[in-house]
Amino acid sequence: MEFKTSYDAIVVGAGMSGMAAAIRLAMFDRKVLLIEKHSIPGGLNSFYRRANRNLDVGLHALTNAVPKGTRGAPLTKLLKQLRIPYENLKLCPQTYSLIRFPEKTLSFSNDFNEFDELIKTTFPEQFSGWTNFVTAIKDFDETNLQNEYFSAKEKANEFLSDPLLIEMVFSPLMIYGSAWEHDMDWSQFVIMFKSIYLEGLGRPVGGVRTIIKLLTDKLKELNVDLRYSCELQSIESVDGKVSTVLLKDRKLGELSIQTQQVFSSIGLPETMDKTNHKEANIRAGNMSFTESIFFLKEKPRELGQNATLIFHNNRDQYLYQKPKTLIDDQSAVICLPNNYHDDNEFEEGIVRVTFMANNELWTNLSEEDYKAQKEIVSQKAKALVSTYFEKEATFIFDDTFTPKTVTRYTSHYAGAVYGSPDKTRDGKTAIDGLYITGTDQGFLGIVGAMLSGISMANYHGLQGGAQ
Ligand SMILES: Cc1cc2nc3c(=O)[nH]c(=O)nc-3n(C[C@H](O)[C@H](O)[C@H](O)COP(=O)(O)OP(=O)(O)OC[C@H]3O[C@@H](n4cnc5c(N)ncnc54)[C@H](O)[C@@H]3O)c2cc1C
Repeated sequence: MEFKTSYDAIVVGAGMSGMAAAIRLAMFDRKVLLIEKHSIPGGLNSFYRRANRNLDVGLHALTNAVPKGTRGAPLTKLLKQLRIPYENLKLCPQTYSLIRFPEKTLSFSNDFNEFDELIKTTFPEQFSGWTNFVTAIKDFDETNLQNEYFSAKEKANEFLSDPLLIEMVFSPLMIYGSAWEHDMDWSQFVIMFKSIYLEGLGRPVGGVRTIIKLLTDKLKELNVDLRYSCELQSIESVDGKVSTVLLKDRKLGELSIQTQQVFSSIGLPETMDKTNHKEANIRAGNMSFTESIFFLKEKPRELGQNATLIFHNNRDQYLYQKPKTLIDDQSAVICLPNNYHDDNEFEEGIVRVTFMANNELWTNLSEEDYKAQKEIVSQKAKALVSTYFEKEATFIFDDTFTPKTVTRYTSHYAGAVYGSPDKTRDGKTAIDGLYITGTDQGFLGIVGAMLSGISMANYHGLQGGAQ
């Protein structure tokens, strides 16, 4: 691909939001350059291959998994905006998922009524408050870009008085999408509640690769200039407006390209550090994770476990925070990709175990200690998973990634998977023409990031900022 000397828009980062933004802009004949620092697309939702096996990085579950044609649903809107037929996503729904605390266990599926009924029987005295809480969630417009930031826990306390119910309901939503520790922004909570409990979870057959291929095929069809191993170095502005970007391309070296619009998905502090408007008050995020991926001879069902996801917590309280040790082994998410409804894809059993992790502690280890600690994490994950099986599993192969890996492959400061706690809901920055998409615009997760790319492209690129 030859670089042009100027583009209508430059999109930075070929993750979910960057690819979606580039598609939308190119659909309306904008001349678009999409650059990606890494040699493959996907960002936080990517893949790799080890020992002849395909491993997914993101995607335990696609949220917002509604049946075809569900009117007004985010997934329906997303596919329509990207002109991707629903069938091409090859979406399989979850069986059910568990929220396991020492005292109680809840389960939820893609039928919200089942969850509702279970809360009625498990927390009978809370049920009328719960019903009002759900109504307040349903009635709230979480997509309004002008929404104020406020505590979801404070809001939940207006309706519910049992801390255990609050902790249990919050735990999957926090670990799947909160950049805040201990709490969530109310709008973000509503997004997550609707997308996980009210809509549901699924997995495309083929996992991450299926989603990425749908997006890269579209980019090709629309003639987007997509360049891998090409890094944004700096964004220059004149009179407060974007004018030029400086890139470092692995093959061509340094390049200067003119544009009036930059859509950056690399994070808010990461982006502002590429400009001369360094804003000291934007914090890097704290939440990072390790993940151990195991391949087993048996499928989890043969070992007596049918759940798709298990949100495991060994304390009465759910401590969603950067742990003071390398990992917090008292809580975890266990993902069992075989346990989506259609399991013709895998010949082996697969289990993924995610622990909250401390980025600095991992980063400061010597090479030797790093290897040894990864092995300890793997052993802890294996022991935990085994408690959820009725029979002994035969572990064949495993691999573990850490916050250090996340930083290396995505360049997010501190390996922060949910980005900075400081978001820019309308995508605007101190520089005219420089917009944030994805994680730090505040819509995260796979569907959320794609919706962010679409809405920022529509709002700033196609409608000139008119909502
Ligand atoms: C282990 C794990 C499990 C997850 N599980 C789920 C799940 O089950 N369900 C779900 O919905 N979500 C999940 N997520 C979250 C989801 O993957 C992300 O929220 C989403 O992919 C974020 O997309 P994004 O476009 O905002 O950012 P990113 O994916 O971070 O994309 C940013 C891109 O910018 C590139 N970049 C960085 N710096 C530069 C530069 N200077 N120049 C050029 N390019 C640059 C990066 O390489 C990256 O490709 C998970 C994430 C992880 C890590």
